[in-house]
Amino acid sequence: MAYDFDLFVIGAGSGGVRAARFAAGFGAKVAVAESRYLGGTCVNVGCVPKKLLVYGAHVADELEQAAGFGWTLEEGHFDWGTLIANKNREIERLNGIYRNLLVNSGVTLLQGHARLTGANEVEVEGQRYTAEHILIATGGWPQVPDIPGKELAITSNEAFYLKDLPRRVLVVGGGYIAVEFAGIFQGLGSATTLLYRGDLFLRGFDGSVRTHLKEELEKRGLDLQFNADIQRIDKLEDGSLKATLKDGRELVTDCVFYATGRRPMLDNLGLENTGVELDERGYIRVDPQYQTTAPSILAIGDVIGRVQLTPVALAEGMAVARRLFKPEQYRPVDYQNIPTAVFSQPPIGTVGLTEEQALEAGHKVQVFESRFRAMKLTLTDIQEKTLMKLVVDAETDKVLGCHMVGPDAGEIIQGLGIALKAGATKQQFDETIGVHPTAAEEFVTMRTATR
Ligand code: FAD
Ligand code: NDP
Repeated sequence: MAYDFDLFVIGAGSGGVRAARFAAGFGAKVAVAESRYLGGTCVNVGCVPKKLLVYGAHVADELEQAAGFGWTLEEGHFDWGTLIANKNREIERLNGIYRNLLVNSGVTLLQGHARLTGANEVEVEGQRYTAEHILIATGGWPQVPDIPGKELAITSNEAFYLKDLPRRVLVVGGGYIAVEFAGIFQGLGSATTLLYRGDLFLRGFDGSVRTHLKEELEKRGLDLQFNADIQRIDKLEDGSLKATLKDGRELVTDCVFYATGRRPMLDNLGLENTGVELDERGYIRVDPQYQTTAPSILAIGDVIGRVQLTPVALAEGMAVARRLFKPEQYRPVDYQNIPTAVFSQPPIGTVGLTEEQALEAGHKVQVFESRFRAMKLTLTDIQEKTLMKLVVDAETDKVLGCHMVGPDAGEIIQGLGIALKAGATKQQFDETIGVHPTAAEEFVTMRTATR
């Protein structure tokens, strides 16, 4: 049977664009449908605008440090409207770049919601298209628990477009987004509280990292409340919001921001017209080659709920394009040792096993840990400490994990990701000459095991 397209991609986000562009580059006839915004979550309401706001908040640190270096500054004033307008301009520029990338690589771009009408058929704006392969790359959407008053809360989607910077903010959650946005609001001047339902936020990260970040955020005046959860939200007469906690306490604020995880975006996708099944968590079930339970349909990225990071969606998109149209270049995605950063203030960088995971996996673990005040702060009154930690297998000497909390952690951890991928040993770390004077050199100069 002759199809309209070799590959029909639903969703022009990180994974979808990568798969479409490369498939077209390999000679396939490709269409992409996008209902909302080119570039997807990362470009529009994720990584990119988030990082721009983090930079904005970080300026407050630089201003605070300036006096130590001899600078006298007039009292600063921050204007949220300017930051958001500039951010929006940059996002629009990126939207245009994504459009050009697709169109210039020969991909047919369809604007509108795509709905599966069969295992080889998609409907967009009333028009049906057939394809030999269909790739679902529809991403995710913020999930807010079903509590009374939930409609009064915002999520990351709305936070990027707030008209004004709230004077007081209550951030709910203890994952990446909660910690990052708490830092953004706090840095830009909102009185910020972070509520997390468990004992300590960032579950799954190394224990030393979690504790260290908690201490540093508290030093900065962030109000951290653990073992706390909201039961209901009410609007008060003066327009502010009252959050009633499960323990009966009442907190009054101007903005309740929920960052309690994301669900797969499957709304009106028409999966019922196909044989595509979901897994027990509600994400699209795929085999190791991203094939769903309907053989002509594949899925990648946040919608399969594996690792919800842009570089992972990109790698999966590339793997699908190669597997379908350039099999001789196909390589499976390596999910081991994925480096990642949390752009909190200070940021976290991490790759490999946490101490807890290494012990659980049965390794005889040696830990090298260092806490120090960064050189840049020695001329200031700021007492922030940087944490660096190596988790090493005592028997093989292999470095199993590298963890950091401190300035530029994301930048530093990328290179260590390569070292771990190459299987570096602690001895090889020790034999690597440091770059002096940097904070990063601490990773190659930690000689004595802490435990
Ligand atoms: P998406 O990028 O979400 O793209 C899916 C696209 O599909 C969207 O454009 C959507 O409109 C479209 N779509 C959905 N349904 C349909 C339909 N039926 N028809 C047509 N189009 C449809 N990751 C990092 O690595 N680093 C970060 O710093 C980072 N920061 C983040 C900050 C925030 C606030 C958030 C929310 C996420 C962040 N992420 C970050 C995660 C990252 O954004 C996602 O992992 C990544 O975007 C997933 O890519 P994807 O291709 O699976 O989906
Ligand atoms: P996460 O899954 O990282 O965190 C969700 C948080 O919400 C957890 O602390 C969880 O608690 C808590 N939670 C979940 N359900 C409830 C509930 N019903 N009531 C109260 N608390 C709840 O999700 P995020 O929304 O922060 O981010 C989504 C994903 O996007 C991340 O996992 C990450 O993959 C990606 N991302 C990556 C970034 C980066 O690379 N820098 C930045 C932002 C997002 P518990 O731990 O107890 O389950």
